[in-house]
Amino acid sequence: MKEESYMADIKNTLGLYLHIPFCRSKCIYCDFYSLPTKSDAEYKRYINSLILHMEDYSAAASNMLIDTIFIGGGTPSVIPTKNMIELINGAYHNFNVTSDAEITMEANPATIDRAAMKKYVGEGVTRFSFGLQSANDRELKALSRIHSFDEFVDTFNDARKAKCGNINVDIMFGLPGQTKESLMNTLRELTALDPEHISMYGLKIEEGTPIAEIADTMQLPEEDEEFEMYLMAIEYLDAHGYKQYEISNFAKTGYECKHNLKYWNCEPYLGLGPAAHSYFNGERFSFKRDAQTYMNALELLDPAADITDERYEVRDKDRMGEYIMLQFRLCSGLDTAKFKIRFGRDFEKMYSNALNVYIDNGFMTLRNGCYSFTPKGMYVSNYIPAAMLDFDENKNDQINAGT
Ligand code: SF4
Repeated sequence: MKEESYMADIKNTLGLYLHIPFCRSKCIYCDFYSLPTKSDAEYKRYINSLILHMEDYSAAASNMLIDTIFIGGGTPSVIPTKNMIELINGAYHNFNVTSDAEITMEANPATIDRAAMKKYVGEGVTRFSFGLQSANDRELKALSRIHSFDEFVDTFNDARKAKCGNINVDIMFGLPGQTKESLMNTLRELTALDPEHISMYGLKIEEGTPIAEIADTMQLPEEDEEFEMYLMAIEYLDAHGYKQYEISNFAKTGYECKHNLKYWNCEPYLGLGPAAHSYFNGERFSFKRDAQTYMNALELLDPAADITDERYEVRDKDRMGEYIMLQFRLCSGLDTAKFKIRFGRDFEKMYSNALNVYIDNGFMTLRNGCYSFTPKGMYVSNYIPAAMLDFDENKNDQINAGT
């Protein structure tokens, strides 16, 4: 790869993330920023605010091509169809969206129908991402999900009838009452539907969520069993045509999520809406988790309101640390030649001691100049680069697993 073209591509494209902070009902494990569903008038007001925010950034992004849009949440599918279409058109109107852009919309299976999906596909949505979590209705109930497995299957089939050829489905492991057999059943049921992409997350008990209060009383799998579930799923998915390309993500060839790859490749993205994060013009920034203040500020009802939560310029040393952390999330790992192009430094020389220890202990491999994790290493990969670099990874992470 030529140095100039590699860097030019990174510089001229931009991912756009639009956050929809509403859900019909809050799942007990979820700590995403989302509010109970609102009236149609309030949805309209929120969508108008997002469009105003896009207008604010239109000039700053005028020399960039938007090649991915991700409408995430929360639950984007609770927004009335006509307002969602206004939002999509707002993106086309304010930015240079490429004709082949990947446009993903997250949806909860209980809140979208075929007619709506058909309209979204007609407006340019290329990819739906459904939160299923499990094919076992008892497990879904334990998570307070609002849909059954059968309802999910109907929605999935409706998406196909709406001519969507790229579908992601989120599932989880380490759930209350889940066993290796029930996870295997979820994998079997899901792969039988033939989605293009599967994301699989381990359940995390986040402080402040309702599940944290009752976790002690729940029958949660032991850590060893969770690890076995993870390895079992990787093996099963690989055998069924889903290559793991990131810690939690699996895809058929050519269907890796282009938008999320931007996060892991440290490429620019602009995130709008309360709680959204951005990496734009050399700065990382995020907006406060407060939809009311957000709307008041954008509508200029309260022009003095500060909606920014955090904002800082990414210095060279941090940029390098972030890059290492994020590249190691990918199965392709860290390419020492690309590292040299980006930072002018020799990765192997900098970290050879630590790298050799991880290779000797079966956590990493070195192939064609790329260091990457083995499946065993992937499971603990949140800790290894952090220990190597003394770096806080979660600070800059905005991976969507809502709905
Ligand atoms: S998991 Fe999804 S549907 Fe449930 S509360 Fe969180 S964002 Fe909403």
